Amino acid sequence: MSVRIGIIGAGSAVFSMRVVGDLIRAEDLSGSEIVLMDIDEKRLSAVEILANRFVEEFEANLKFKKTTDLDDAIRDSDFVINTALVGGHEYLEKAREIGEKYGYYRGIDAQEFNMVSDYYTLSNFNQLSYFVNIARRISELSPKAWMIQAANPVFEGTTLITRAVPEVNVVGFCHGHHGVFEIAKKIGLDVEKLDWQIAGFNHAIWLNRFRYDGKDAYPLIEKLQNENWRPQTPFDDQLSPMAFEMLNFYGMMPIGDTVRNSTWRYHRNFKTKLRWYGSPWGGADSELGWEWYKQTLKSTVKVIEELAKLALESKERIFKVERVSELAKKFNVPEEIFQEFFAVVEEESGEQHIPFMKALTSGKPERLVVNIRNNGVIPGIPDDVVVEIPAVVDSEGIHPEKIDPPLNDQVLRLYLYPRMVRMELAVRAFLERDVNYIYEILHRDPRTRSEGQVESVIEEIAHLPENKPMREHYKIP
Ligand code: NAD
Repeated sequence: MSVRIGIIGAGSAVFSMRVVGDLIRAEDLSGSEIVLMDIDEKRLSAVEILANRFVEEFEANLKFKKTTDLDDAIRDSDFVINTALVGGHEYLEKAREIGEKYGYYRGIDAQEFNMVSDYYTLSNFNQLSYFVNIARRISELSPKAWMIQAANPVFEGTTLITRAVPEVNVVGFCHGHHGVFEIAKKIGLDVEKLDWQIAGFNHAIWLNRFRYDGKDAYPLIEKLQNENWRPQTPFDDQLSPMAFEMLNFYGMMPIGDTVRNSTWRYHRNFKTKLRWYGSPWGGADSELGWEWYKQTLKSTVKVIEELAKLALESKERIFKVERVSELAKKFNVPEEIFQEFFAVVEEESGEQHIPFMKALTSGKPERLVVNIRNNGVIPGIPDDVVVEIPAVVDSEGIHPEKIDPPLNDQVLRLYLYPRMVRMELAVRAFLERDVNYIYEILHRDPRTRSEGQVESVIEEIAHLPENKPMREHYKIP
């Protein structure tokens, strides 16, 4: 069945190419129209050129349109994917720098249980506001469409949308649960035969079930902690000392980005991070690890631009592994990243956006990990909080699995509860237009020493020129 898909922030080239790669292989969605929307015309054009070329070389039946108008991407669409980062990485660094000036190492948005460096819940008001705006436009222009939230913060963002615009169908996706397969491969287990479940919040998921051949396979994970370990990239942390420290403290294995989201005890400074996340980077969220990521993103964008140039100049096939790999080497894209970003030339990306659309439209059931309102799936978590859980999707919608065995008490009360409280404060600040909730988060922050520190850091961030909407929303003079 053909559908209309709007991709907002489509200039996020790597993401868009992964989606296009999956679409090309999705015969069920043949004939679909994809509207690429971004405010950056240069990035948008490169993606459009490449998407068209990809389709031509693979002889797929898909139509692309580009636009800088949000409503164009939403009107008459069946699915609207949001992957935009309002203000870009540049804004994140600006706000982080102000935070550091006032004594908040890695910025005010780095918080216990949320250290991920582009997961801003406090200072990127424009990002949260854009989420709500998109949902409102969907409600008006395409009320039956699904909003697919890929942009971060997925936890705060999807919970906010479900409360602010409850009539819109929204689902959040992340690929963090792939950490389960990484563990299985390391042990030498056949992923196909694995019986697994994860549950929690986005970037806060825990392995509640890990069975193989009818037996509990958790002891095989525990054995891995004695092995010699060195990270290959800053993001290589699934089997780091930190992951096992969390396993030993909470009694369950943290999966994917959850490992990044420990407490200040493990993030106090670069030296502490090195100990838990390994040398030389100290994990993805240290000053070094994040710099590595930003440089990698830049080189990846370069590869995309070069490919787009080639597409215009040459009639030769460009979507083949050797061609892309050659360029990746030229621009120093590390091998692991090359695999993650460009393997889509040969196989499905592992992202869930297109499988979700296929399952809903064809009715062929698909097991996915989704971010949706809890509604009783995780006992002890309120219904109106969005949880990340496994579910079967078919033409009737999303059917959450029963979480069995349940999350243990340590994970629920000592990790998920405090993480949820931070989300509540950030979401209430937005909904009630009350900056006091943000102050409250900062007053509970171990880096805070005085009232003045909190007021000054918020005031300086709010007075950045792009934050006029934030000042107005919170009535900050
Ligand atoms: P990026 O800055 O490279 O790309 C984002 C794109 O958004 C840019 O092309 C930019 O021009 C565009 N944009 C900015 N403001 C816009 C607006 N108002 N309307 C439309 N487009 C706009 O960022 P990135 O590193 O690709 O990350 C994008 C988002 O995806 C981030 O929020 C990031 O945290 C998130 N992310 C999510 C996952 C996941 O699995 N859910 C994985 C990686 C990254």
